[in-house]
Amino acid sequence: MIKVVENEHIRIFRLELGPFGTNSYILTCQETNESVVIDAPGDVDLVVAQLNETHPQYILMTHGHVDHIGGLAELKSALNIPVAAHQGEAGDLPVTVDLLLNDGDELSLGHIKVKALHTPGHTPGSMCFHTGNYLIAGDTLFPGGPGRTHSPDDFRQIVTSIREKLFGLTDDTEVYPGHGEPTTIKEAKEEYEAFSARPHEPNLCGDVVWTT
Ligand SMILES: [Zn+2]
Ligand SMILES: [Zn+2]
Repeated sequence: MIKVVENEHIRIFRLELGPFGTNSYILTCQETNESVVIDAPGDVDLVVAQLNETHPQYILMTHGHVDHIGGLAELKSALNIPVAAHQGEAGDLPVTVDLLLNDGDELSLGHIKVKALHTPGHTPGSMCFHTGNYLIAGDTLFPGGPGRTHSPDDFRQIVTSIREKLFGLTDDTEVYPGHGEPTTIKEAKEEYEAFSARPHEPNLCGDVVWTT
């Protein structure tokens, strides 16, 4: 567990959890101690121990892939708080979604507002969560490339999501992905610009890196 952000308004912990070492994030309002947890890869005891020092409000899901949901049923029953996700993922989750999120929806934890951004491509209902200068990106955007896509159409869609929803954020926005280390919007924009300046095969998809 690493504290990746702490300022007067918010603190953010990153926890690498479950059999795949997937990142889960806990965002907490410094003033009220209200919190949200994003994704539920496993190791629920660890997450609950961390959340017990706060007042957890929601479990937010970036998407329904197996490496992000392994602990969801256990976490929901331990915390007894609402699970929020996009409709496009609801069928892949092992619990009922209590709150269906649409693009632009805002949730409050104390004085902190978290905005849900619908960023389809990796999955149809993928969401990123934005607050202040921080973006929890799920498997949509990583250092060096977008998340994995299963078809050329999905690849075009994830690029559109990244360009339209994420590149509008300020350059200094820190991007915290579902796996591995963070990047920034500035770095991602520069990498993407170099990528888009080159010609590419029309059927490009899969594990694409911007240096392709
Ligand atoms: Zn995924
Ligand atoms: Zn993942």
